[in-house]
Amino acid sequence: MTLRENNIAKLSEGVFDALIIGGGINGAVSAAALSGKGARAALIDKRDFAGFTSQQSSNLAWGGIKYLESGDYGLVRKLCLSRNHLIDSYPSRVKEIRFFATIDHGFRFSPWFLWLGTWVYWLFGNGYTKPPRLLAKRQIDREEPVVDTARAAGGFEYSDAYLHDNDSRFVFQFVRSAMDRGCIAANYVESLGARRDEDGLWITRARDTETGKLLEIRSRALINAAGPFADDHNQLTSEETAHQHLFSKGIHLIVPQVTEHRHILTFFADDGRLFFVIPMGVRTCIGTTDTRVDSPYTQVTDADRDFVLENINKRLRLAKPLMREDIIAERCGVRPLVVRRRADGAGEGADRDWMQLSRKHEIDVDRANRHLTIYGGKLTDCVNVGDEVSAIVSGFGIALPFAHYRWYGEPHRSVYEEYMHQAKLMDLDDLTSPESSEPLSSRLWRRYDQQALELLAQIREDPRQAEVLIKGTDYLRCEIQLAKRQEMIVKLEDFLRRRSKIALVVPRQTIQHADGLMEACRILFGDQAQARYDEYFGESRAVTPAQSLQSEAATA
Ligand SMILES: Cc1cc2nc3c(=O)[nH]c(=O)nc-3n(C[C@H](O)[C@H](O)[C@H](O)COP(=O)(O)OP(=O)(O)OC[C@H]3O[C@@H](n4cnc5c(N)ncnc54)[C@H](O)[C@@H]3O)c2cc1C
Repeated sequence: MTLRENNIAKLSEGVFDALIIGGGINGAVSAAALSGKGARAALIDKRDFAGFTSQQSSNLAWGGIKYLESGDYGLVRKLCLSRNHLIDSYPSRVKEIRFFATIDHGFRFSPWFLWLGTWVYWLFGNGYTKPPRLLAKRQIDREEPVVDTARAAGGFEYSDAYLHDNDSRFVFQFVRSAMDRGCIAANYVESLGARRDEDGLWITRARDTETGKLLEIRSRALINAAGPFADDHNQLTSEETAHQHLFSKGIHLIVPQVTEHRHILTFFADDGRLFFVIPMGVRTCIGTTDTRVDSPYTQVTDADRDFVLENINKRLRLAKPLMREDIIAERCGVRPLVVRRRADGAGEGADRDWMQLSRKHEIDVDRANRHLTIYGGKLTDCVNVGDEVSAIVSGFGIALPFAHYRWYGEPHRSVYEEYMHQAKLMDLDDLTSPESSEPLSSRLWRRYDQQALELLAQIREDPRQAEVLIKGTDYLRCEIQLAKRQEMIVKLEDFLRRRSKIALVVPRQTIQHADGLMEACRILFGDQAQARYDEYFGESRAVTPAQSLQSEAATA
């Protein structure tokens, strides 16, 4: 039996303290926090973990400097502290990075005024990061020749942080740590709704979307972390809330690397909004946009592509402008923005400037029914969400035996030091793939933390385990085997797009014909290897993920 089959069988057994609907960042941290504190938790997601909004972010852990302009100082202060906490707790996964901003002549603020703003921002973050710097035009030319300064009045530099791997891996690591502490989690299991029985227990009807099998999950509390679908799920359970979601669409384009410098180029687009050129390994990720939409199902349009490409081409000095055909991959999602519910369903603030809507999170609590709904939020604020959810669940009268357990963060420094010592004794970094942008030892630690010690043992026993299995990527044979056992990979896309970021940085055609991909499929899927490969690349899936979302929307 696989980990997933085992967990699905266990979902119908006994009574859980809490069932979490949704395995995006908010559900994942709820599961990690509750199981770390000793609750009997379960989590289901109708897609893959992080398979919706949480795979579409800008990968930033940031204080939200742009919300200073909308006067949301409380939120900025809170997010700056959350960012610091993440950098502290995840030294290998969340790293400080410089934002290198260029301001055009005639922009609504001068560079020095914005630079003063970055000092306010820096102080909001307790001066935790490197201090800001004002940049004269000639400094920009000298330090980042790719920026076209023809229209520039000057610039500034300040710090925030980014998720070194990607958002979906970051989310999965919370799901994994929840499972390590006893949480029963399963992807591709959809909640069809829940009711309370005569003993006050929640009975959630669920469906394994792979087999169609129906199951019932019993829990004392129900946590709605369905992100953009939170309101839909509350309708299924007849829960009434004070808040609701509105949606703002954002896209990113991934293109060949535009600069080798490891900082985030920051500009204001023609519509006055901030946009970023973010390093992504050997690629560059450009975005984002902020467009009001009514449905969570969105896709990148030609107008979006042209907007991003035109804006970037205007501001960079490239040998050749970036064209649509240079796009390696695209990301597109909706920000679930929380507003107070209005009787007409439109939501308070629906008629205001979209950018003015706060990016904070709110948790609606129905104490009588032991139900809560997580609205809005950001990856950056995830530790707070986990702690708040635990406190609410404890307030429901559900005992958390290890209430003060620190449920997040990388293992103790001594474990890291032991790992690095072992890696050095084996000359592990000599095995670093030429495709990799960093030494093998740090990559394995960041992705697997203490499980990386297990990988070292396997490589010592059998040096073939350190061979790159899929040509053109830096994934080793032993990593794919670990993924098979531990990472609940159901579809090839789960591996290529979310557990790894191969699908974001390697063109689809190259992956399709990469030596070793079929062997990786055999390890991951056994006798289903060809079917899973065909599902991802085959005729029947000549559709892009965006198109498959459209068909889901049509049937929703
Ligand atoms: C373009 C963009 C850029 C962003 N950039 C940043 C950034 O740089 N930094 C930052 O901190 N934040 C950023 N955000 C915000 C952040 O990504 C989101 O706030 C966050 O990912 C939302 O997580 P979630 O868990 O609420 O929702 P989701 O990730 O959507 O998770 C909800 C899950 O619930 C599941 N689900 C729904 N219905 C059911 C059901 N009936 N049964 C079972 N499962 C169900 C879904 O499949 C989904 O996986 C960005 C967002 C966007 C769109």
